[in-house]
Amino acid sequence: MVTPDPAARRALPSVDRLLSSNAVAPLIAKFGRALTTDTIRARLQTQREKLTQNANGFEFDEARFVAACDADLAQQTQPSLRPVFNLSGTVLHTNLGRALMPQAVADAVMSAMTRPVNLEFDLGGGARGERDTHVEKWITKLAGGDGAVVVNNNAAAVYLALNTVGSQRGKSEVIVSRGELIEIGGAFRIPDIMKRAGVKLIEVGTTNRTHLKDFAEAITPRTAAIMKVHTSNYAVQGFTATAPEPELAALAHEHHIPFIVDLGSGMLVNLEDYGLPHEPTPKEALAHGADLVTFSGDKLLGGPQAGLLVGKKELIACIRKNPMKRALRVDKMTLAALDALLRLYTNPDKLREEVTTIRLLTRAREDIRAQAERVLPQVQAALTGKAEARVVDCASQIGSGSLPVDSLPSAGIAILPVGKAKGSFADKLSLAFRALPVPVIGHIRDGAFILDLRCLDREAEFVAQLDRLKI
Ligand SMILES: *Cc1c(COP(=O)(O)O)cnc(C)c1O
Repeated sequence: MVTPDPAARRALPSVDRLLSSNAVAPLIAKFGRALTTDTIRARLQTQREKLTQNANGFEFDEARFVAACDADLAQQTQPSLRPVFNLSGTVLHTNLGRALMPQAVADAVMSAMTRPVNLEFDLGGGARGERDTHVEKWITKLAGGDGAVVVNNNAAAVYLALNTVGSQRGKSEVIVSRGELIEIGGAFRIPDIMKRAGVKLIEVGTTNRTHLKDFAEAITPRTAAIMKVHTSNYAVQGFTATAPEPELAALAHEHHIPFIVDLGSGMLVNLEDYGLPHEPTPKEALAHGADLVTFSGDKLLGGPQAGLLVGKKELIACIRKNPMKRALRVDKMTLAALDALLRLYTNPDKLREEVTTIRLLTRAREDIRAQAERVLPQVQAALTGKAEARVVDCASQIGSGSLPVDSLPSAGIAILPVGKAKGSFADKLSLAFRALPVPVIGHIRDGAFILDLRCLDREAEFVAQLDRLKI
């Protein structure tokens, strides 16, 4: 710290004097005394250090000082979790919060947040109820099976399923194909989850080919389950073979062990009916003989972060009794969201309108291109001759490991420098768009900064802030 110069000290008011001034009163009212005091103190200190170098002719401008403190305080107190525009081209972007939920779902959550609810209360009998029953009937109706459990996310669902089957006396081995030992982003690896869940991984087959007999040969009296993991975020192509689900289920049942399927995304309707690539459904897996299926709430389903387990009653009952269920359970907001969302799935004809994820995934390229043509002039105007923008075709990703090899025909705006391209120009643009009041997230491709407009819902808000762009 620089020792304050006596002249600098005299030139500036004290913290106390400022705190009692009329100009600062509105800041105290808005941000509280503690934060305001800290901010004034920090600003005075900076100013004092500057004056130590040169205090000649300095006059303290209180209005300017207070305005600067106001800006500091506004900056400090803005929410950390902020809305952004997801124009990245990835619809279910894990880092941007995955699924967006319909208003009906948000309204249900709002009500559960602000009012008491019958979360674990049986309104008929007046006794204690079970929180998962609110959604169990919808999950089993839409996915099949005769019981369901909801936990924090699908990673938790897989953990809980494994931990439950591995807690039976003398049973600790779970057989999985070598081709399915997946890693999902963020340290979810099947072998690690198995270890933590207390089960021993028995790998069978090879990376590209696994046959039914590989599973049959691995079964021992210690086998707790056979598990199939949907290879959701990559595709093995070429000389490949996997054991069909119905045969795996039959093999497991012959040995009185459960067959578990981790679907990852999982979808309650046939996406082909909506013009999208097929995604395996829990209903199919259960029809193939699976005893338990796990899938995410916030991937293709389009709901809140959750892990859904659906399947046979006895297995679901064991899972519910596992003490870890309590540690992994969901709160009332998640259940309210799932309840409202699942009810929308009971009317498949209206899904495209009512479920945001399906609406975004099924937007036609022509519709997106028309939107791009509409906003192009405003984007061009904001680039002030430093860059040029044009409408381009692009391809959106579904994201979150769903349908990795399929992309959706989309359209957007490509921004390129005027004249010769400088190497880092696209990075600079990317930074400038992220610095807007509602940050805009695009992606860089071949030196161009691309805004994929598939997920642009609040077009007027997007356009209105473009004059704040600084490149
Ligand atoms: C995404 C995924 C998971 C993890 O699900 P989260 O809901 O992100 O916890 C597990 N298994 C598969 C196959 C997945 O695709």
